[in-house]
Amino acid sequence: MSARIIDGKQVSSDIRAELKSEVAALKEQSGVTPGLAVILVGDDPASKSYVTAKEKACADIGIYSDDNRLPADCPESELLALIDKLNNDPKIDGILVQLPLPKHIDEHKVLVAIHSGKDVDGFHPMNVGMMLIGEPCFLPCTPHGIIQLLLRSGVKTDGAHAVVVGRSNIVGKPVANMLARKAEGGNATVTLCHTRTQNLAEYTRQADILVVASGHPKTVTGDMVKPGAAVIDVGVNRVPDPTAAKGYRLVGDVDFESAKEVAGLITPVPGGVGPMTITMLLYNTVQSAKRRAAGK
Ligand code: NAP
Repeated sequence: MSARIIDGKQVSSDIRAELKSEVAALKEQSGVTPGLAVILVGDDPASKSYVTAKEKACADIGIYSDDNRLPADCPESELLALIDKLNNDPKIDGILVQLPLPKHIDEHKVLVAIHSGKDVDGFHPMNVGMMLIGEPCFLPCTPHGIIQLLLRSGVKTDGAHAVVVGRSNIVGKPVANMLARKAEGGNATVTLCHTRTQNLAEYTRQADILVVASGHPKTVTGDMVKPGAAVIDVGVNRVPDPTAAKGYRLVGDVDFESAKEVAGLITPVPGGVGPMTITMLLYNTVQSAKRRAAGK
């Protein structure tokens, strides 16, 4: 039997519709328009298209987006000065620096320069620490999107065995932490796997919820999936495809064809986790604006 497909585009569009109403209510009740500042350094085509997609998503739900473009050779000090200005701009609720940055700029220095109260990407060590101790904070967007996909697809995390493949700071580690938290979408027993894990399949076959963020196609194949499991494929990989107009197609880190025959639910690539990342960025920006409106 083939797995139920988790439609990330639909879940994403549902959340964006909810946010649009919240933004309209916020404007009407308190006169506050949520503001997101986006900073793009250089002209990398992929980064440019991500930024354009983020700005369009903001416009669609009524968030004001403040577009900041700096040349690829801009000094680090100029970027830090811009962040400082935006940290102090009362119209701005969130600041997003599009990564990766040019090599001469220290990424860590830049991310910690963003005020933790405007860190809508959830990468600032203050927010990472708050998440770890279970205090209110901005949750990182892709991991939070994964939790929302599970919750809104009716997957019970409470008491489930969740196996996460990958331990990066942006996906693996935070999603493992969120699944283990004493909170809605948490309370799972979590196993975190990486390249030093001996016999990966032994762990993945025990997973009621399997989250794969390895950065390599076919890290997980159907024979590594527990029958009926919920499989979340975070991967985005380009593989050559002469039949495709662009000469390539996108695949995840899971072999979709074989895994869908075993899993109970599965996310496709594209159209699964991908659309959720920008949506949770919008969510964080709206939460930040609500705090501003409440004078917090
Ligand atoms: P990353 O920084 O390269 O980390 C990959 C992790 O996977 C590492 O911890 C690595 O282990 C582990 N790993 C690699 N191969 C493995 C294997 N064969 N068995 C077990 N573990 C393995 O990648 P990332 O930034 O987390 O991203 C992961 C994937 O998600 C990428 O395809 C990326 O494009 C995608 N992504 C998608 C979104 C989205 O919005 N949809 C957002 C972010 C990332 P070690 O630590 O031992 O090296």
